[in-house]
Amino acid sequence: MIKPKKSLGQNFLIDHNVLKTIVECIDVRNKTVLEIGPGTGNLTNYILEKNPKKVFVIEKDNELAEKLKLKYSNLINVINNDVLNIDENSLFDEKVIVFGNLPYNISTEILSKWIANIGSDFWFEALVLMFQKEVANRIAANFNTSNYGRLSVLANWKLKINKIIDIKPSSFKPKPKIDSSLLFFTPKKNFYKIKDSKNLEKITRIFFNNRRKMIKKPYNQIFNGDLRFLEKLKINLNLRPQNLSCETYYKLAEEYEKLTS
Ligand code: SAH
Repeated sequence: MIKPKKSLGQNFLIDHNVLKTIVECIDVRNKTVLEIGPGTGNLTNYILEKNPKKVFVIEKDNELAEKLKLKYSNLINVINNDVLNIDENSLFDEKVIVFGNLPYNISTEILSKWIANIGSDFWFEALVLMFQKEVANRIAANFNTSNYGRLSVLANWKLKINKIIDIKPSSFKPKPKIDSSLLFFTPKKNFYKIKDSKNLEKITRIFFNNRRKMIKKPYNQIFNGDLRFLEKLKINLNLRPQNLSCETYYKLAEEYEKLTS
């Protein structure tokens, strides 16, 4: 028996209904699958039952990676590395389906990295990822709601987001202290062509810095007091950050890029 490592967020999924729900989000038959943080292989087993063409797994824990190699031999390709170091764009020769029950901080970090790095062509067909429930609610939030914020705007830019299920701590071993949610993401064919994702990151950071205050200050900070874009984007300075739709933020980023390029 391996002792689960807290530092690597090792909470293994043991609930068979949940595991089944995860692999049934999308048909993987004859597809290339990437699983991130496979752990002891609980989800990997379910994936393999669905007859994918190839399975790659990325596992940071050396001990678990060795065990996976022995357990599955040539059924899967084990990459013993930190997912944050991997350049997915060059790893695959076709679009992949990604599954991940990762430590929660890594889920958010990797999602942000992927969104920033997506070029005109997506390297994945879908992402099925686990998050802390509160974070999932923020990612999937609509504007004019209290959960709406930076994460919602950034994630919605290039991805269509669906919440699949909430998952209780008792579905994992050891039990985490928090509830989880599974999100399903697919690429958006047409997304706003913001040239540098850093500009959208900057605008959302400045606007959502003070969630309760009106947007006058952040707007003027970004546009140096130039009020031309208010009418064009049908907004006014008395609104609060959560009252602006995702599209409005993408348009603000586009206008900002025009000014600064
Ligand atoms: N998916 C498995 C394991 C979940 S636990 C299951 O549901 O049972 C999270 C897994 O992610 C652990 O195996 C842990 O070692 C791995 N992990 C943690 N940080 C990682 C990182 N940065 N890159 C790759 N794997 C990571």
